[in-house]
Amino acid sequence: MPTFDRREFLTTVAAGVAAGAAPLGAATLRAPVGAETPPPQPRAAALAEPAFRPLPLGSIRPAGWLARQLRIQADGLSGHLDEFWPDVGESQWFGGQAEGWERAPYWLDGVIPLAWILDDEILKTRVTKYVDYIVAHQRADGWYGPYPEDAVQKRYDLWAILLANKVLAQYHDATGDARVLDAVVKSLRALGGGLDRTPLYGWGKFRWYEGLVPAFHAYERTGEPWLLELARKLRSQGVDFESLVATDDLEAPTPRRGLWKWTKHVVNTAMATKASALGWRLDRRPSDRAFATAMIAFLDRHHGQVNGMFSGDECLAGRNPLQGTELCAVVEFMYSLEHLFSAFGDPAFGDRLERVAFNALPATFAPDMWSHQYDQQVNQAQCTINPEHMWTTNGPESNLYGLEPNFGCCTSNMHQGWPKFAAHLWMRTPDEGIVAAAYAPSRATFTAHGVPVTVELDTDYPFHESLAIAVTAGAAARFPLVLRVPAWAEGATVRIAGGPEEPMAPGTLHRVEREWRGRVDVEVRFPMRPAVTTRYNEAVAIERGPLVFALKIGEEWTRVNADKPHRELPHGDFEVRPTTPWNYGLVVDETRPTASARFEERPVGERPFSPEGAGVVATVRGRKIPNWKIVRGWAAEISPADVAWSDPARTVTEEPVEELTLVPYGCTNIRITEFPRLRG
Ligand SMILES: [Zn+2]
Repeated sequence: MPTFDRREFLTTVAAGVAAGAAPLGAATLRAPVGAETPPPQPRAAALAEPAFRPLPLGSIRPAGWLARQLRIQADGLSGHLDEFWPDVGESQWFGGQAEGWERAPYWLDGVIPLAWILDDEILKTRVTKYVDYIVAHQRADGWYGPYPEDAVQKRYDLWAILLANKVLAQYHDATGDARVLDAVVKSLRALGGGLDRTPLYGWGKFRWYEGLVPAFHAYERTGEPWLLELARKLRSQGVDFESLVATDDLEAPTPRRGLWKWTKHVVNTAMATKASALGWRLDRRPSDRAFATAMIAFLDRHHGQVNGMFSGDECLAGRNPLQGTELCAVVEFMYSLEHLFSAFGDPAFGDRLERVAFNALPATFAPDMWSHQYDQQVNQAQCTINPEHMWTTNGPESNLYGLEPNFGCCTSNMHQGWPKFAAHLWMRTPDEGIVAAAYAPSRATFTAHGVPVTVELDTDYPFHESLAIAVTAGAAARFPLVLRVPAWAEGATVRIAGGPEEPMAPGTLHRVEREWRGRVDVEVRFPMRPAVTTRYNEAVAIERGPLVFALKIGEEWTRVNADKPHRELPHGDFEVRPTTPWNYGLVVDETRPTASARFEERPVGERPFSPEGAGVVATVRGRKIPNWKIVRGWAAEISPADVAWSDPARTVTEEPVEELTLVPYGCTNIRITEFPRLRG
């Protein structure tokens, strides 16, 4: 078999397009290129090659707990939103009279990968019907249906066009439907002309890089140079985040009931963390590569939360665990991290992706995924309609579990989190191999040197420490299996085909290069040592591997807003109140974490991210803090002075030491995660 050459492939495909030849896309990508391929053209190298490439959508299937989680999602709001929520079901994108901007494309952005990863025929058929409608109603000049004329002739923020084309490129990746690629190309051409007349403003200006995703997708399949000129136009008209972060505007937390600002908007910020990855592929500026890490470090320093996110409710809100993080920011940050790992191949981006996926993402949904929060809190003693709230710019319903608490953006955008995570667990290396970007039970199929290969991961990670990988090659093939070794995994080991245990260095990509033939078992172990970390106001948090732990609190769910439209069960709104004490400080010694917390691995439940389904629990020691109460609807803030509660004069020392049960943060609905630190 000839070696697969991407540049040759692109040239061939470009020639095929010119001749109106066979459909493009995923199916073609998997086919080897014939021997008579013309030599590479210079333009083929115009985009920097990413470190790793995602597999075509549908090449990775979920297994184990991840399959259950995606099925819960498809059976919950994601698989049913179009049936009763007008902003999707009656969207102007689909010929209706409701919202005609971001909401229907947002929903498709998550439901397309959900349907194709689950291979759910019913959902695929519905999605295809909607995509067909958009494509069939595209105007001859390239603009899509929701507007009566050229979209720059009236005030229509072009962010929705960037998003819609990103969504349709994803559909093309899954199906290879050439009509959809044609629609994207026509729309991008119209967009390029429109930007000459009316430059980007508003959301489009802050989200310009989203347009690079479909532009690159189309460029790699058509070779049309104007697509890269369009990408440069978007970059030059859009916000330069490196300059923005260099100002002091982004450092300070937005005050309570403060001023809403484009620059401090948490979703814009989460999305923008990938701008440098996309910009680097276009311009190869070394500063882009460095800035990717620097921007996240900046956000951590000033707004970082223990769940892997930064706060924003919905403007950047500091490190206080009582501040909220909007769900849109969670799913967008995950998508950004998937791009960052792909472009730069830095294992730290994979570590961070897991931290967000296993903590912040599941925590903000009800376990059945019928309801979600707009804002989640790291210390969230109760979720109620709260006029006394201390959000920066959000409203009193922001931490309810509901259909559209506060605002409906998350209702339409939340769906992409799990499916895109599943689609990015494995990526291709440039030398025919496969890399584990993140770990969850799954099966990936691809070809290496023309040989069909399956990689199956059987594991209850992140709840458990052991991972069993089976590599099955249809014939002898030499390629690397690259394992991301998390930075926390001191003592990580790998054992190939029953051979000796070999050490792997934490925070690296460990390369197993060999000839694979038949089935080869690869046993991986990532020891998860407990960690006690110091957080805001000297509070402590308990961690183990990629998981953060939180106090398991009894819950009472109360239905509210039953008279509001579209709140028929099972998609109602709920308040959640504690039924057991939550006001504890922990007796821990951060220098001896193994003595501070005891962990027990358990079978992962039917609902993996629910209080009762937790696949691991922790036992710690703590004392009740009688004076720590709910004030203004929330757990009161713990000040640095309060940390001295070990003072014998304080009542807390009279409280008995109790054994407390912590569960993974992602399994909780209400929780305390950052605890006051107490001495013995
Ligand atoms: Zn949102």
